[in-house]
Amino acid sequence: MDIRKIVNELKDELIELRRDFHQHPELGFEEYRTSDKVAKYLEGCGLEVKTGIAHTGVTGFLKGDQPGKTVMLRADMDALPVQEKNEVEYKSLEDGLMHACGHDGHTAMLLVAAKILAKQKDKICGNVLFIFQPNEEVAGALEMINEGVLADYEIDAAFSQHLWTPLASGEIGVSGGAVMGGLHEFRVTVEGNGGHTSAPHQAADPVLTAADIINSVQMIQTRQIDPLKSTAIMFGMIKGGTKTNIIPEEVELEGTIRFLYKAGPDSEERPKERFEEIIEKVCLKHGTNYKIEYLAYSPPVYNNPDLAHLVQHLASEVVGGANVTHYYSLAGEDFSEFSDRIPSVFFFIGTGNKAKGTDYPHHHPKFNIDEESLITGVEMHVRTVLNYLSGKSLTAN
Ligand SMILES: [Zn+2]
Ligand SMILES: [Zn+2]
Repeated sequence: MDIRKIVNELKDELIELRRDFHQHPELGFEEYRTSDKVAKYLEGCGLEVKTGIAHTGVTGFLKGDQPGKTVMLRADMDALPVQEKNEVEYKSLEDGLMHACGHDGHTAMLLVAAKILAKQKDKICGNVLFIFQPNEEVAGALEMINEGVLADYEIDAAFSQHLWTPLASGEIGVSGGAVMGGLHEFRVTVEGNGGHTSAPHQAADPVLTAADIINSVQMIQTRQIDPLKSTAIMFGMIKGGTKTNIIPEEVELEGTIRFLYKAGPDSEERPKERFEEIIEKVCLKHGTNYKIEYLAYSPPVYNNPDLAHLVQHLASEVVGGANVTHYYSLAGEDFSEFSDRIPSVFFFIGTGNKAKGTDYPHHHPKFNIDEESLITGVEMHVRTVLNYLSGKSLTAN
């Protein structure tokens, strides 16, 4: 079977779908139009369709004619509150909303892959669960899981892709292990004892303590944790004080701890626990108190090494070995909720092309994708499923 030829025959439909989603962006958990279109398309392909999972999530289940394993493919559907600045015929029709992360392309690619695979039903040994997820930007995956999206199926492996402008069009980035960052979002409140700046010895200064905390925790990233294990502790917000000559009662620090490895209290790295230990010691030194709150947590996206090997092999068939690279990012991606539960691979489809103006960063008002890379994405979806379910997957090299 010539998969590329089959995908190319659906190229116009693929681009049309993507442009339609692009013109009608919807925010997370509000993807009503998108999810309606997705459900109708999947029904048209003859899949068993469920809707309304985590508000707007949709799944399609394809049962192959022969028994076998079950593989899951996932696309995300949400757009962003960004005003589009691209002057293209398929520009967003919604004021202040835009598909500025490529999720329009993800949805279109997975739909076309579902159509192709549904037509190969007689050759498929096993099943495919297609997940169309709402609200990737704010943790929609976990809500789908909490509503039981995985409960009805025994899933053996999961795959997902991101169209990625930092990677050149024609390249695919895939690696084993952690590939997108885990995240702890924190708020630290330093509580001192206020006073006059002329008599600091009579106060307990939360400003000096806060400065000391910001400096001291930086040692975690290299002096306490192997610098080859990426850790980034960043402060995005400092709040405190009312006047130049007043020592305030309180200073608030907010920021993120990002890491590219599996971390927990028993791991060697344990960045969160080290962060807490240093804050405790610094506050003790200054005679101040503190409170730490965590505003959000997500695990890193973790790629199963054997499955990543399989995807590398398939990617080299699709784009040529020289165009397959290792790729990692400290940014968060909520596919991590799936990769935390199922052996998975999350990989990057390069779509950056300066000549076509598709080299803007994700979430930028001029973000756009090279539509040629949609073909690559569909081909990767189809090949991954067929190869994995053929049972030969782990012998690939
Ligand atoms: Zn995004
Ligand atoms: Zn995204």
